[in-house]
Amino acid sequence: MAGSPINLMSVLTCPNCGQCETLAMPEDRHQWVHLCLSCSNVLLPRQGDCCA
Ligand SMILES: [Zn+2]
Repeated sequence: MAGSPINLMSVLTCPNCGQCETLAMPEDRHQWVHLCLSCSNVLLPRQGDCCA
């Protein structure tokens, strides 16, 4: 009865307000951007975490 399995969960902590959110990380995270639900700060993937 399981839905779509999500294995790429990531916990983000907003550096601006400290809000924690658990998100499903898309595989193509090179273009991954998230807005903090609390303060609308733009959260980006960890730098240096890809080949670019
Ligand atoms: Zn925030």
